[in-house]
Amino acid sequence: MLAALLCGCEGADVATRPPAPPNSGRYGFANGCYVMDAAAPGSASSRWLAASASDDAYGFTATSEGAGARLMMRASDLGTYLLRDAAGGYVVGAAHQLGRATQLESDLERLDDTFRSPAEWSLDVAPGDATRFQLRNYQTGEYLTAGGTSPSASDAATVAFYPATGCAPFPEMTVDAEGSVAPRAWPDGDLYGIVDAHSHLFSNFGFGGAGMYHGSPFHRLGVEKALPSCEQFHGADGRRDLISWAFVGGLRDLDPNALLTALVSGRTPEFNHHTEGYPEFTDWPNAWGSPTHQVQYYRWLERAYRAGLRLVVQHATTNSVLCELIAGVRAQPTRYACDDMVAVEREIVEARNLERYIDAQSGGPGRGWLHIVTTPAEARSTIAAGRLAVILGIETSNLFECLLTPRRGTPACDAARVRAQLDHFHDLGVRAIFPVHKFDNAFSAGDGDRRVGQLGSFVNSGHYSNFVLDCPSTPAVFDRGNVLFGGVNRPRAVYDSPPPADMSRFAASPLSTLLPFVDALRAPRLEGDYCQAAGLTQLGETLLRELMLRGMIVEVDHLPRRSIGRAYEILTAADYPPAATHGNVMNGRVYDLHGVSITGLGRCSDPSRPGAMGDQLRERIALIRAHGGYPAEGFGFDLNGFASAPGPRFGANSVCNDTPQQHLIRYPFTSFAGDVTFTQPHLGNRTVDFDTEGMLHIGLLPELIEDARRDGVSDADMEPLFRSAEAYVRMWERAESRGAALRQSAP
Ligand SMILES: [Zn+2]
Ligand SMILES: [Zn+2]
Repeated sequence: MLAALLCGCEGADVATRPPAPPNSGRYGFANGCYVMDAAAPGSASSRWLAASASDDAYGFTATSEGAGARLMMRASDLGTYLLRDAAGGYVVGAAHQLGRATQLESDLERLDDTFRSPAEWSLDVAPGDATRFQLRNYQTGEYLTAGGTSPSASDAATVAFYPATGCAPFPEMTVDAEGSVAPRAWPDGDLYGIVDAHSHLFSNFGFGGAGMYHGSPFHRLGVEKALPSCEQFHGADGRRDLISWAFVGGLRDLDPNALLTALVSGRTPEFNHHTEGYPEFTDWPNAWGSPTHQVQYYRWLERAYRAGLRLVVQHATTNSVLCELIAGVRAQPTRYACDDMVAVEREIVEARNLERYIDAQSGGPGRGWLHIVTTPAEARSTIAAGRLAVILGIETSNLFECLLTPRRGTPACDAARVRAQLDHFHDLGVRAIFPVHKFDNAFSAGDGDRRVGQLGSFVNSGHYSNFVLDCPSTPAVFDRGNVLFGGVNRPRAVYDSPPPADMSRFAASPLSTLLPFVDALRAPRLEGDYCQAAGLTQLGETLLRELMLRGMIVEVDHLPRRSIGRAYEILTAADYPPAATHGNVMNGRVYDLHGVSITGLGRCSDPSRPGAMGDQLRERIALIRAHGGYPAEGFGFDLNGFASAPGPRFGANSVCNDTPQQHLIRYPFTSFAGDVTFTQPHLGNRTVDFDTEGMLHIGLLPELIEDARRDGVSDADMEPLFRSAEAYVRMWERAESRGAALRQSAP
């Protein structure tokens, strides 16, 4: 009674406020279960947060801890939390009130890049009470008070969080692994771990940032917003997802009439895919069968990390022509511009956001298992500490907006701009760069891709494709073979001559821009081993030299034949290592220069020969040894890159044709290091059968490795895979030291 009188509170049941429980600071509440109390500034008595009788509001009304709402504190960022109750309701702040919402909206659903959720609260130590906290709403910026919210900091309540039980778990993907990763090195001191030297985590932030590439590796509001149904973007039955339709079938054996019909209607001819995301996941993710849905959600990446993945090269990527086409025929919306460098900048920001998000789930800055590194020394210390190091790179056609045909409003590309752009992106942490990707640009002829690349390059520059039969013998990943659109090939004498076609209205009106060329598109293919007539430009050579002077990682595998030949001359003269992350080893020359490439594990067992799944890896290591390189090599899965991935060995989708397969995966199994035990993987409500479904996402890397081990590939034969992070870091160290030497000797 006395306490109630002193505080002026109603009722006789308010006791003096209990002491605040010990805590580890503003980052220490992630994924914990708490009851929360609040007191007005300067007050020594408090009440507990509870839902209203109608369940649509929250207030500090409960007079006992036992009556307080059980709140799961889910980190949405460092020091920022969602407060989710046992019935799935969130505490939201709006109009000076505390509401309760069971459905949240996201920036993506609203197509509003500025949207901030009212369910997020940033937590800070209370100014007048070092043992307690105050909360501020992420949307309104208002402070939580004993009676609602207020714009005035002086009204902020002091709050405390008391450990509790009875919370509901926050919706999340399971990792399906037990045991933690400990720091580990090889006995000779070399780094332990696998590299994925070519990866795209953030393709959903390319292509205009809506849902053309659907699904995010994380979302502040959790998996329900990271991996929701794609129907809002891909349409009912996925029929607005023209990109996947074209990649999976339409463009392989192109039927121009079907393509045109699809573009005019903005829909595929028939059912395309089931759209359900979390927690049903009917048709996606599927890294080998569905190219437009996220396959590297951070929990899947974490499962791969637990299997030994320790280094990932994350290339920011997008494609402005695909984006403009899909948006221009109104098949799907965008959230921001289709321009390549808009996407690149955004993906770099989101990489930092992901690092913070994982840190936030793990208890604070630097506590997470993923760390973006900017020097080989930092990569070494990160990997040696048992964490996953991420290197930032760029792989996009209109690098630095240096188009072959400059667009109105884009600055002219010259050596000064290239240097300034390199400095800018180096400052942002980018260390690996592809000079060219798919389309012709100001640095080089395009990579020679004969499908989307050939048409897209035409649209991007207004230049017909430039393929000829007079070709150097240089190996190339894309620049070889038949030309698919024979009518669009008109070789030109001068690479950067004025373009014959005006594509400036393509984004506004793609179909009417393409209409005059329909007959050319229908012309038959050209049979023969064609290659790009042009190679590196002067500006392209400048870019290579500037990359080397900065000690950056030079990605060579999208260079067409003439360009890669010249690039190797330049790299050889500078004794500089290339990164060949689409697998072009140039007959071993990449290793002569101490560069790196990628390899893989065979997918199919040979009933007569145990260990056949290790053939490719063994042969590659022999080649590396023969060229004096460090005998190790990793993967370059190119996940989220419209590329393929390891398929299943069994069932209707088996990639092994008629070869009978043995050795189903058996659970549990242990990692190569023996530190982690893997159990049957789940996708939300369903279990995943790796044997018949293959590598649907990066989280099934443990199964890919286990498959090879069960096939009889020996630990000694697997070892080079688990030394591949060392191989990559050695290449990077060499690039850095050669860069320093070149700067010394530069005039
Ligand atoms: Zn979809
Ligand atoms: Zn690529």
